[in-house]
Amino acid sequence: MSKVRIYTLAKDLGVENQRMLEILDGLGVSYKSVSSTIEEETVDLIKQILAEESTEAATETVAAEAAPAVSAPEAPAKAGSDDVAPVASSEAPAASATAEIPHRAPVVTIMGHVDHGKTSLLDYIRKTKVAAKEAGGITQHVGAFEAQTSKGRIVFIDTPGHEAFTTIRARGANVADIAIIVIAADDSLMPQTREAIAHAQAAKVPMIIAINKVDLPQADPDRVKTDLTQLNLVPEEYGGDLVVVPVSAKTGEGVEELLEYISLTAELEDLRADPKAAFGGVIIEGRVDRQQGVLATVMVQEGTLHVGDFLVVGENYGKIKAMNDSNGARIKEAGPSTPVQILGFSDVPNSGEKVASAKNEHAAREVVASRQSDRRDVENARVQRRKTLEEMMGP
Ligand code: GDP
Ligand code: MG
Repeated sequence: MSKVRIYTLAKDLGVENQRMLEILDGLGVSYKSVSSTIEEETVDLIKQILAEESTEAATETVAAEAAPAVSAPEAPAKAGSDDVAPVASSEAPAASATAEIPHRAPVVTIMGHVDHGKTSLLDYIRKTKVAAKEAGGITQHVGAFEAQTSKGRIVFIDTPGHEAFTTIRARGANVADIAIIVIAADDSLMPQTREAIAHAQAAKVPMIIAINKVDLPQADPDRVKTDLTQLNLVPEEYGGDLVVVPVSAKTGEGVEELLEYISLTAELEDLRADPKAAFGGVIIEGRVDRQQGVLATVMVQEGTLHVGDFLVVGENYGKIKAMNDSNGARIKEAGPSTPVQILGFSDVPNSGEKVASAKNEHAAREVVASRQSDRRDVENARVQRRKTLEEMMGP
């Protein structure tokens, strides 16, 4: 044994992929994805760390048993914070708890250079993989859709381009689990392709390369693979761990394989979320509809949303009056990895804003009030600092 893939090792040692990546981060070992390979010495180090951890855990359990009836110390609560559900965190929960947490569908974003076929690819998938709409449903832009594949559900964010990805990330949320980088076979790597790759790498989101337009006579997929290698992204067939799938959004060639690779990557990532946990989600997009008012698409990340729930977004709150799935069908509740369109906010929320639920209207108001006062404190402190500075500088 010389080199071993991260996910293989994780499976062998019975730990989450996420935990494995945290350990590698801690060791300063670089990797591209869970399918990257690591050296034997690193494997030894990881085993050592895990062994130490389990010894510590055992000691703690003994200590806890020796001193029962005392609940775990809680972090000091901020005003109103106990009334609001925590926003889903990307941290993997403790290994012992994950076993019962069900898997969730992957959320996929498509990025790439202009005209390389992002919209066409999404359209093809939507056309072939989305169940027919409910009768009477009005086609509305929701910003996401759910594809049914033989390997299960896949959720696509359908605002292609980097803006959606970066604005969401800029607000500290991570909504995508997998990034598809579309590269046209007749054009190869272009500036926005490199940007897209850089975004996915910065977010540590696993990438799948879709070489599109392979139906064109001038298509040159080998050139794309060679160009990728120059960026240190080595396709699997060249001995690396980058998944590269040739596709055509026009003929549909390769799309099925692409979906399979998405499901496989999702499996390796071991994506899970608890539908019974406190609700946490992210705004995908918000807009005003002339007839209906403010509509917001929310991605449920943890827990379950119900019609009638109170939601808090930034300094706004709202009550869910009605909820649609991405097909336009009215639904009453929605679990993890479900994009839903919500009617009930009075102000248009921004994409990337985190959404939490509150017990009732009173609690929602309190959270908003506390956020407003926190913001004012920060602003006042800034004004005060400037005044002090001006005084120090003299007239
Ligand atoms: P986007 O800017 O990345 O969203 O690219 P579009 O989806 O708008 O596609 C740009 C152009 O390429 C359009 O004229 C599409 O019809 C065309 N196109 C997209 N995918 C394919 C493909 O697989 N084969 C061919 N021949 N043309 C494609
Ligand atoms: Mg487009």
